Amino acid sequence: MDLFSSINPNDPADQDTAQIELSYLKDAINLHAYNYYVLDAPTVPDAEYDRLFKRLEHLESLYPDLLDPNSPTQRVGGAAIDTFVSHRHAVPMLSLKTETDSESTGAQNFDARIRKELSLEMDAPLVEYMAELKFDGLAMNIRYEAGKLVQATTRGDGEYGEDVTHNIRTISQIPLELKILDPGALAHPTIPKVLEVRGEVYMRLDDFQKLNERQRDRIAKGARGERTFVNPRNAAAGAVRQLDPRIAAERPLSFFAYGVGEVLWNEDSQYEPKELVSIFKTHKDLLNSLKALGFPVNVNAELVHGAQGLVSYHQRMGELRRTLPFDIDGVVYKLNDTNLQQKLGFITREPKWAVAHKYPAQEELTTVIGIEVQVGRTGKLTPVAKLSPVFVGGVTVTNATLHNQDEAQRKDVRVGDTVIVRRAGDVIPEVVGVILDKRVGSPTPFQMPSHCPVCNSLALREAGEADYRCTGGLFCPAQRKQAFLHFAQRKAVNIEDLGEKLVDQLVDTGVLKTLPDMYRMGLSSLIALERMAEKSATNVLKSIESSKSTTLARFLFGLGIRHVGETTAKDLSKHFGSIDSLMQASIEELLAVKDVGPVVASSVRTFFDQSHNVEVVNQLRACGVTWPESLPSALSATLPLAGKTYVITGTLSRFGREELKEKLETLGAKVASSVSAKTTALIAGESAGSKLTKAQELGIQIIDETALDSLLNFE
Ligand code: NAD
Repeated sequence: MDLFSSINPNDPADQDTAQIELSYLKDAINLHAYNYYVLDAPTVPDAEYDRLFKRLEHLESLYPDLLDPNSPTQRVGGAAIDTFVSHRHAVPMLSLKTETDSESTGAQNFDARIRKELSLEMDAPLVEYMAELKFDGLAMNIRYEAGKLVQATTRGDGEYGEDVTHNIRTISQIPLELKILDPGALAHPTIPKVLEVRGEVYMRLDDFQKLNERQRDRIAKGARGERTFVNPRNAAAGAVRQLDPRIAAERPLSFFAYGVGEVLWNEDSQYEPKELVSIFKTHKDLLNSLKALGFPVNVNAELVHGAQGLVSYHQRMGELRRTLPFDIDGVVYKLNDTNLQQKLGFITREPKWAVAHKYPAQEELTTVIGIEVQVGRTGKLTPVAKLSPVFVGGVTVTNATLHNQDEAQRKDVRVGDTVIVRRAGDVIPEVVGVILDKRVGSPTPFQMPSHCPVCNSLALREAGEADYRCTGGLFCPAQRKQAFLHFAQRKAVNIEDLGEKLVDQLVDTGVLKTLPDMYRMGLSSLIALERMAEKSATNVLKSIESSKSTTLARFLFGLGIRHVGETTAKDLSKHFGSIDSLMQASIEELLAVKDVGPVVASSVRTFFDQSHNVEVVNQLRACGVTWPESLPSALSATLPLAGKTYVITGTLSRFGREELKEKLETLGAKVASSVSAKTTALIAGESAGSKLTKAQELGIQIIDETALDSLLNFE
């Protein structure tokens, strides 16, 4: 169906076309509304629904004779479902007219309409409005009788709603019994006999994330009938319309109050709008009274004046939107004076005194033109959908993450598919789902590649992990910067002057490609960099030079083998004593190392099975990186300090603590952190404290810095 084709209402031929389009639009909108309001399972984004709706409104305005009283434009929401008892609302629950135009036009249009309806002259004072956030949840009518919550109903079709009292009772923010918390702010001194509070039930973004994670977990464990939710609104609607309140209570909901329905102050008073208006003179009074009764009222509701006040509010809230802990899809402007509200009244489905001014949609439709696999700094492989450019969440989006193999498979996104893309706040855009009806033919399902798309090393997924990772850590260009920084850090070979900025520059200019390049670069390549003086360049080279003399454990840790942290590197180095024995070790031999399990063993083996990783190690050695070869642990019993345990305390002038620890360990000693009866001796530097006292008490030998030489030279 060619929507948005131009139609000339004066051309009889166009009337036939319009009639066909009208019928198509009504069917499509009714189906979408059913999926959204009744099943809580929308199949198209709101922006798409809004486009169809606007087009229908437009055609109906061109052809008033074709206006059908059952048209979706004449109704509110969707029908109530049979599973719930339905109640007629004492006061209908309406929708809101929507403005989608830019911040200035949308607000100006509304202000101009209000001024016209109120017949205000040009020089009349600015109109006072309450401006509020438009929460993206679902409307609720909560009825209190004699101060007690007796019923909660959804909006339904505006006339009849579903009774969901059992679930609304689980929302801790909603009082079950009314109490006056702030008498000064209350417009009426007593609690009404009947009070219907209206507001929005919604789900916070963090609660939504947690819920979906839990749902994914349940699905992965084989739970039946579970699903994830496309957005917080959909999740909130699903929770509210649960038959089992225990399930609703598991899905944390929140509430904001923004209005009232029926309000009666004494037994025999009927709903009397005039009385209400004389009590709540302004919408602001009403919000203050709701707050005084303990209802959550959003702090961003603001009194503003004239079109300019609305424009500024729309803009400010638009900026705030991405930092809010919940979704909003726009702001709402309401005439503040309730008397004037009454004067303006309603048309079919919406009040004339309020309007919703929307922000650009956070979900849109587009097509997938390809699926690429990107490799992150840490070697993680992420499938990314390449999209036909689409304006969503205020920016043009061309890429959306599919997270990992399982997510891509679960969503079954394929090249050519029409998909819903979501970009909320600063969150990375993601594909929410595929519109299967629009799939053409049977494109091939996505499969993660077996090799890294950047360096062609093996890509592996470890048991219990969601991500595939490239195993070419030292060689893969995508992981280069990370590899340099990891190798240079203090706990590894310790190149003090090689910081993040410098690595960025050196990699970006192509000076550094693989680790050995660090030891090959000369002064000229450093000086050629922006803002690099000769003195700093010389310092960098000096610290690179001094890193050449290291230990096997530090070197091993620096290689960045997955799962090989500092301690494992030490264990491996102690056990094998040389890098060559380690590189050749079989899985069984690796498993014989203290604290090494199958995950670490297989990670080490896979790393050295990549020939380019071995090549990098050999080149580093050729560049002069050395360490004292130690004896493998099987032979370490023969070392001079084998079986001895030392504790180091105080400040030593000639050694750093780590350095001394390494020296002692190379000689076969153990270095412990506290003094006990098992301690062979305490090595005490300047300002030694409690450890020294304890050693003296236990009568343990104390070695000072002068005596240290003879210990290290095992004299
Ligand atoms: P609406 O949600 O746009 O506006 C009316 C509602 O706004 C009220 O019922 C109330 O719940 C809510 N609201 C939030 N904050 C408010 C505040 N501060 N003051 C007053 N009301 C506030 O209108 P609607 O008629 O419920 O539905 C239209 C919306 O539903 C559109 O966004 C549409 O895209 C979406 N929808 C989507 C699909 C789909 O298939 N994706 C189908 C149907 C409807």
